[in-house]
Amino acid sequence: MKTEFTLAQLADPDIQEADKILRACVHCGFCTATCPTYVLLGDELDSPRGRIYLIKEMLEKDKPPTAEVVKHIDRCLSCLACMTTCPSGVNYMHLVDQARVRIERDYQRPLTERLLRSVLAFVLPRPGLFRTSMILAGLARPFAALLPTPSVGAASPGLLRRIKAMLALAPRGLPQPGPAAGTVFAPIGRRRGRVALLQGCAQQVLAPRINQAAINVLTRHGVEVVLVRDEQCCGALTHHMGQDADALARARANITVWQREANQNGLDAILVTTSGCGTVVKDYGYLLREDKTFAEPAQRISALAKDITEYLAGLELAPSTQKGDVTVAYHSACSLQHGQKITQLPKELLSKNGFVVKDVPESHLCCGSAGTYNILQPDIASRLRDRKVANIALVKPDMIAAGNIGCMVQIAGGTSVPVVHTIELLDWATGGPRPGLN
Ligand code: SF4
Ligand code: SF4
Repeated sequence: MKTEFTLAQLADPDIQEADKILRACVHCGFCTATCPTYVLLGDELDSPRGRIYLIKEMLEKDKPPTAEVVKHIDRCLSCLACMTTCPSGVNYMHLVDQARVRIERDYQRPLTERLLRSVLAFVLPRPGLFRTSMILAGLARPFAALLPTPSVGAASPGLLRRIKAMLALAPRGLPQPGPAAGTVFAPIGRRRGRVALLQGCAQQVLAPRINQAAINVLTRHGVEVVLVRDEQCCGALTHHMGQDADALARARANITVWQREANQNGLDAILVTTSGCGTVVKDYGYLLREDKTFAEPAQRISALAKDITEYLAGLELAPSTQKGDVTVAYHSACSLQHGQKITQLPKELLSKNGFVVKDVPESHLCCGSAGTYNILQPDIASRLRDRKVANIALVKPDMIAAGNIGCMVQIAGGTSVPVVHTIELLDWATGGPRPGLN
């Protein structure tokens, strides 16, 4: 694609990067077929190619984006299915991230929307506050029926619709918090490695059992696990909302504490059980490439970051439990399959450990979770969830497995089949408790 940036604009490293990405696009349109918003809405401007044009124009003109541009960029899930499909290697992720930062900086959203986004950006990355807000949301949940139902077509869903979507996602009760930061879990038997486990923010409130399962499996196989003190939210939530100052501050804070841990006690890997977070931590090196102090440490940390399944693949798990024939529908989270290109590994681990694993039809399509998307775009998100749940039902599973808490909550909202994390099944197979019963 031909671009028309001025030399002055190209002096900006972000514009240079955008120029490189835009020039790689040959506007073939292959990406449209796998884009969930295009599949649902059928509008070229809700396709990757359409959005790429809109972003190109916005960056070239260097003027505040219009409401129309914001509408179509906001509707993008950042699912990255387009990147998997694109034959030209267009890095849509880095382009749309840059567009979101521009929008956040130059576009004046309506007051209610600004308030909602500020509240989400402030509360979600703080587990203590998030826990309190979930308790309050759980109490308010019965009143959600009084609020308007999401309807498709509006340029931007209203505040009440979004609050309704938020209440629908709130759990009826919360589990006890997991182990405190700073805890070190000793390996059982011969020590084979030492890892940090990202504690996460929403996940540690909604489902501490996931990291507990990871700790069980790792220690059972000789790996020492540390929950690093002073670790923060990885920054994914605010990064996807275009609030890069916050996201990068969190990245720097995490790099600092992980580096300290690696230097003092050694780390073979930083493991992540939420693939949305993993994708961003693996991208710290890129995000901080212009930061003189952090560029190199960020590269090192990104290289250490691994999805839990990547690390387990090298451990040779020892299955020990007789489970009978349990059929598992494997939901491939977008951040795992498109963001990190991890597609077969979780399924292979599950199969090797005794589960009957079924692929879900249209598995490339997002479930509609996408960070805060199911709150900010509830109408599209609920249509995607219903489509996902219907596809899952076709394989008649006993359980649904996924590697991302956002997908788990989203899918669980539309089905009575237990939705569990892949690591919970691997824990069960190697001697842990049966998941999905709580
Ligand atoms: S598939 Fe790639 S090259 Fe083709 S239009 Fe989409 S982004 Fe551009
Ligand atoms: S990231 Fe997903 S929703 Fe956004 S343009 Fe690409 S395929 Fe479509």
